[in-house]
Amino acid sequence: MARAFNFCAGPAVLPLEVLQEAQAELVDYQGAGMSIMEMSHRGKQYDAVHREAVANIRELLNLTDDYAVLFLQGGASLQFAMAPMNFLPAGATADYINSGHWASAAVKQARLLGNVNIAADCEKDIPTRVPELSELHFTPGAAYVHITSNETISGAQWKVFPKTQAPLICDMSSDILSRPIDVQNFAMLYAGAQKNLGPSGVTLVVLRKDLAEKAAKTIPAMLRYQTHIENDSLYNTPPCFSVYILALTMRWLKRFGLENMFRRNREKAALLYAAIDGSGFYRGTAKKECRSDMNVTFRLPTVELEERFCAEASKAGMSQLKGHRVVGGVRASIYNAFPVEGVQALVAFMREFEKRNG
Ligand code: PMP
Repeated sequence: MARAFNFCAGPAVLPLEVLQEAQAELVDYQGAGMSIMEMSHRGKQYDAVHREAVANIRELLNLTDDYAVLFLQGGASLQFAMAPMNFLPAGATADYINSGHWASAAVKQARLLGNVNIAADCEKDIPTRVPELSELHFTPGAAYVHITSNETISGAQWKVFPKTQAPLICDMSSDILSRPIDVQNFAMLYAGAQKNLGPSGVTLVVLRKDLAEKAAKTIPAMLRYQTHIENDSLYNTPPCFSVYILALTMRWLKRFGLENMFRRNREKAALLYAAIDGSGFYRGTAKKECRSDMNVTFRLPTVELEERFCAEASKAGMSQLKGHRVVGGVRASIYNAFPVEGVQALVAFMREFEKRNG
């Protein structure tokens, strides 16, 4: 069996153990005579999977009872609209911190629905970065503050989160459960699953129940958080298979331990950043203090060299290193499930490529 070192930014690599476990019970799920994809989402067996997925998230994030865990659809992109629909009433203002492509995408949706104040803007800064806490200008009495914990495209990550008076809502799509966080600082977190949690098709939302209760009753049912809280994310048919793989992936993460995962993530990223900093050939694109542990972004001297780098790496078994189409360059996405050996292989390839082309 040949598994590539898969640097894709998402959908991203999953733990091999999880894939093999799912493979073993794919055709006949625990004696049911059918797969988990083929049975009622209201039956006993799926119910146990659904509950385990919620329980694993609750344990890993250390959640208190005042937070709800939801499994929704529509990706993080739907949350860009759902959050203001629920929490930005007419006449109120929400503060958004614009740290790059994804934060800006959230801003665009919120503007369609209400007043938005940009509390800080460094979307276009080079090197790419997130703002310093001293740059933030919040609106007194803001409905909420929205941030993006890790900009997947530019490779800039918040290392210390701001403490805000207004409820803090965070798009954690690309670094959720890569490190321990204090959820009490946040009113709501959301993340498409396809980077650190499992496959695409399910979106995790963790939110304070008291906030959801206050949202307008005129919001259509599917778009109201309260609907999904009241129905344990079973208001309509959930993405059963995605939730199942998420449950297995979270089981795997619990076995590894979140602190251990954080340590390993930092070590993996440090290996790559050391290779970049130790060469005059590669150039990191994010400001050093906010370099992402998940998406390591860098440039080579020319676009032609970048293309050759990605093509040759791919032939050598290191796939999907091409930077996002809006920025170019090279991006190594090294989420929880990405193995240390893959990072070591890339570092060796970088040295060798530089020797030949530097
Ligand atoms: N936010 C961030 C930080 C992302 O990285 C992405 C996708 N790469 C999105 C939002 C959009 O997510 P989705 O495709 O699940 O809608």
